[in-house]
Parts: sequence; C-alpha cells; structure tokens
Amino acid sequence: MEKKVRVRFAPSPTGPLHMGGVRTALYNYLFAKKHGGDFLLRIEDTDQTRYVPGAEDYILESLNWCGLTPDEGVGVGGEYGPYRQSERKEAGVYKQYVDQLIEAGYAYYAFDTPEELDQMRENLKAAGVAAPQYNANSRNSMKNSLTLSAEEVQKRLDAGEPFVVRIKIPRNEEIKFQDIIRGWVVVHSSNLDDKVLYKSDGMPTYHMANVVDDYLMKITHVIRGEEWLPSGPLHVLLYRYLGWENEMPQFAHLPLILKPDGNGKLSKRDGDRLGFPVFPIEWKSPEGEISSGYRESGYFPEAFVNMMAFLGWNPGTPQEIFSLNELVEAFTLERVGKSGAKFDPDKTRWYNEQYLRAKSNAELAQLVKPFVDAKGYTYPNEEYLGHVCGLMKERATFVTDLLNEDYLFVAPTAYDETTLNKKWKENTPEIIEELQSILEGISDFTASNIEAEFKAFLERKELGFGAVLPGFRLLVTGAGMGPSMFEICALLGKNETLNRIQVGLERVAELKQA
Ligand code: GLU
Repeated sequence: MEKKVRVRFAPSPTGPLHMGGVRTALYNYLFAKKHGGDFLLRIEDTDQTRYVPGAEDYILESLNWCGLTPDEGVGVGGEYGPYRQSERKEAGVYKQYVDQLIEAGYAYYAFDTPEELDQMRENLKAAGVAAPQYNANSRNSMKNSLTLSAEEVQKRLDAGEPFVVRIKIPRNEEIKFQDIIRGWVVVHSSNLDDKVLYKSDGMPTYHMANVVDDYLMKITHVIRGEEWLPSGPLHVLLYRYLGWENEMPQFAHLPLILKPDGNGKLSKRDGDRLGFPVFPIEWKSPEGEISSGYRESGYFPEAFVNMMAFLGWNPGTPQEIFSLNELVEAFTLERVGKSGAKFDPDKTRWYNEQYLRAKSNAELAQLVKPFVDAKGYTYPNEEYLGHVCGLMKERATFVTDLLNEDYLFVAPTAYDETTLNKKWKENTPEIIEELQSILEGISDFTASNIEAEFKAFLERKELGFGAVLPGFRLLVTGAGMGPSMFEICALLGKNETLNRIQVGLERVAELKQA
C-alpha cells in the first residue's frame, strides 16, 4: 500500500518569514492536499542563540493569512507531538539516537575548545588549505574520542566537560540521492565536514533534530529551499547510519527566488530599494523596527498566494489565475523548475488588480467602507459606494485606490491647471450654458442618456469630444482625467452635477482672470 503523504513546513523562529519561506509552505501545502496527505508545522528552535521572540507567532499568523492551515503541528497538535523541537529535547527525544550513532561508530565526542578550533583553522590555512574544516583529515589531530583513550573520554564526560558530538564522515565515498526536482545529486564525502550533531547541553543541532523528527513524524517528502541542498548528503548519511534508509523521505529542493533583474537572491534590501515588501505581513522586530508586509500594503491573500505559486512553478498552460483549490488540483513537483525564479513586483500588482476586478461592487463597497469613514466622506447609501467601486475598479490596484477620485464624494475646490490653460477650448460660457440646459432636460439621468444627449449636442454644434469634454470634466470634477464622465454625472445625480458646473464656471472665470 502507498504510504500516506506527510509533508512538513519546518521554519526556525529566527525572524519573520521571508517570501521564500511562504513559498516553501505553500508548495508543501499544495503537495499534501493534492495527494490527500497531511501538512505539518514543526518549529525548529534548536539554535537558541538565533531565537527571536515573536517570530513563531508571526509564522502562524502569516500562514493563517495565506490560508495555509496545517493539519497537524504547532498550534494544532497531533499524535506525533510535541512539534516544537525545544520541547522535544526536553522530552528526551534525541539523546538515544545520538548514543546509537556513537555506539555504532558513526559519531564521536569532541572536546576541542573554541581556541583550539581556531588554531586548527589557522594552521591549515598556513599550510595552504583554503577552507579548513573539521573532517577526515583534521580530526586525527584534535581532541576527540577517536584520538583520546576511552578512559580519558570517560573522565572528561564524568567531569562534566563541555563536548559536542560530531558525525564521522566516511573518508572516500560517493553519497547519492535522488531529488524530485534536480534528479540525481552526487557529492563526494571529501567535500563534507564532521558536522556537530549534538551539544553537551542536550540540544541537538538542526541536522540531527531535523532527520530524527522527519523519521519519527513519518514524513514522506521533504520539500524545502535550495539553501538546504548542501545538507542533503549529510542527512542521507544520518538516515543510513540510524538504520532508516528504507524510510528516508524523498527530497525536493526548490529553486531560489531571485531579484527582479535576476541578479542574485532576493533580499530585504531589494525590497527596501525598489519599494516592495518581502514579508507576507508586517514585522515588528523586538527592537521596534518595522518592515512592511503584503497584507498591510493592501494585497489580497489570494492574489499573493497565486503570485507566489508561480515563483518557481507553472501549470504548463496559459492560465494564470488560480484559486488555492485550483492550485491544489494543478500542482505537481515535476513542474517546479530548477533555475531561480525572478520576482516581479509589477506582476504582483497585476495579480492584485485581477483579484480586485473579480470582486463584486457590493463586496468592494464593504472593503472600502472603513477607508471612506476614515476620510470622513459621506455618501447616500451603500449602493452609492458600490457604484463608486464599479467606476474605479478598472483603474485600481488596491482597495484604497478606489478612493483616488475624491470628487466622487466632495465637490472640487481646486481645478487642474493644465486643463484650465491648455484644454479649455470651445467651452465658452455660452456652450456650457447650453450644455447645462441639455443636462437639465434629461429626465432619466442615466449614463447612457447623458452620453446620447451629449453626443447629439456635439454633433449639432459641429464640435469634437476633445473640444468640450475636458472642460466639462474640469467643472464637475476639478480633474483633467478620470473615469467616464457620463457615469460620474449619473452617480452624482442631476442636481449635484448642475451645481458643480455652476460653481465651477464662476471659479474658473476667476482663475482665468487672475
Ligand atoms: N529549520 C529549517 C529552516 O529554517 C528547515 C529546513 C528543512 O526544511 O529541512 O528552513
């Protein structure tokens, strides 16, 4: 029988979740749902020196905003818990496996002090080694259970001397594994160092805890960022040395997310420089520094998630708009690329525009209402707000853009100078007066009626659109450009439109004289 798919998102609470982290969570989620499996959230907090207060809550809230709800794990619970590694350490989960590795000769105690480690690196550098490491060559001249006698080791352990446990990387071996995205990955053991697996305070390092937990939590697929690819061979060795090779999960290392110009990995600095967030939601550091988020910048989570899905994956069809459920249907790891995915802030805005336009006017009215209230605008009813949204949505990226034309709520007090000076052509007072009486005469003041009468009027006068429309717009809105004038007038109503023309004419006459 096929094993039930179980995947995990395993962030370390060392700061806010970057876009890349969200994408990892998203692909894990999509993969799990596609295969009817479980999506777990495990918090990897073994490195206490890098622990940042608030980061875990931030991660939970970000996933929640994106709609990526874990089936199991931190915040949810489940039969393989606890799901926070610091708690697992307290529960004594890891030590037995470390002991098992030491007993089998796959790992060893090392007692070297930081000064001794520095000295070793310096000596090797002086001897011409470019990147000195604790490895098959150097371990023989260090203070560890491979060089010290068994009694000496025991003595040091009994005396409570600080130690680490290191993996004993084999000397001359090719380590291979198959990555779903990258195919065969082959690394020679001479390129690996004897990584620390465990420290005398009882804390496992990332590698040890990660492998043990993936095994104990019955994880079937490890889907994570490319930065973990170099750890792959070490993890493969750990599975082998612990006797779990048959249960080893399949690996899929996701491509990097690149700067918009494709030149290197996307960083927070690029966001600051080019004006876009790199975090899903706003992050306030413990020092009080605030970094912007997509949520606070006005993005819909659906748009953000849709955009993120395309950063490294494509469906192989021209379709670009996908709901989360549609993504679940369409997603496969086989369609995730190897090469880095360029982040495109314009495309991100485009996604938001598509989702905004797809919403009904009534829905948008509800969303825009708090902003209308904050501006202190009044309006006759919610239907009016809906009309404003309908009029504005083709030119809006964010909900707040729906309020870009404040003349839809208040009469203009200023008049666009360019229009006033350059485009005010045949709008002589006589023409405007005639226009006023034509508008006056429209009993059903709808956009199509206004348009028909306006066009007929131009024809009679043998005038072009450009001769009258800019002035007409200026008087009613104060602006030089905007949505359909006929729609605007219909929305404002006959009285308001005529009032504005009257007031505008007087103001404009004054301005022209001045
Ligand atoms: N804790 C690691 C991280 O912060 C997880 C890597 C993995 O998924 O194995 O990204």
